[in-house]
Amino acid sequence: MKENFLGVDVCGYNYEQLSTKLIEDIENKKKSFLVAINPEKIMKAKEDPALRELLNKADYQIPDGIGVILASKLKKGSIQSRVTGIDMMLKICETAAAHGKKVFLYGAKPGVADAAKAVLEKQFPGLNIVGTLDGYEKNDQVVIDTINQHEPEILFVAKGSPAQENWIVEHMDIVTPYVFQGVGGSYDVISGNLKRAPEMYQKLGLEWFYRLMKEPWRWKRQLILPKFLVEVMKK
Ligand code: UDP
Repeated sequence: MKENFLGVDVCGYNYEQLSTKLIEDIENKKKSFLVAINPEKIMKAKEDPALRELLNKADYQIPDGIGVILASKLKKGSIQSRVTGIDMMLKICETAAAHGKKVFLYGAKPGVADAAKAVLEKQFPGLNIVGTLDGYEKNDQVVIDTINQHEPEILFVAKGSPAQENWIVEHMDIVTPYVFQGVGGSYDVISGNLKRAPEMYQKLGLEWFYRLMKEPWRWKRQLILPKFLVEVMKK
């Protein structure tokens, strides 16, 4: 079910399939972790074996970004649609509410996870977010104890990539949750501190274009996409 682009695995599940899998993982007491993959990360991993190993360690690499979909098309693969980190997080919250699974929000600046919790619990009635902790607590034991004390089954980690993925790999066996997802700046968006592209851009897969208009200095970062596609073609 996985396709490989320049050494990095990407998983072909859509939102529905993946959320079903994750609930099964929890029921089976199987630990699993999700990571969002985009061309920028794949190109970085090409030069950085440790990063590549980290990304491939994840159980589910989601195709976050239109670049991965285009690459799959070029390689006659079957990954059809984007699964973005933030939308997957929302889907997991919806599924957790329906199945009575406990969620914990770890990461972001003090107060942001609490604000995100309030928004999420309103959006998904029945959702049980059992605790939050900001991403700047220095004492690792305090982090571990705070999470374990609430016995969550699902843990979102928002500390930026790859710090959050490293944190997950180092801690997944010593904290109670079964499902882990690194979610970057998602709490900032959910709490309303950071604006996402309008829905029209999201639907058309043109979030990159919206960001380019808003933050033109990002153009250099966006040159990664054509470079990535050329590399994929060459392989
Ligand atoms: N962050 C954190 N602890 C840190 C560094 C960063 O909790 O030591 C948080 C930061 O407040 C922000 C998120 O991690 O909410 C990083 O988001 P960013 O958009 O930079 O991540 P990306 O998705 O680009 O990897």
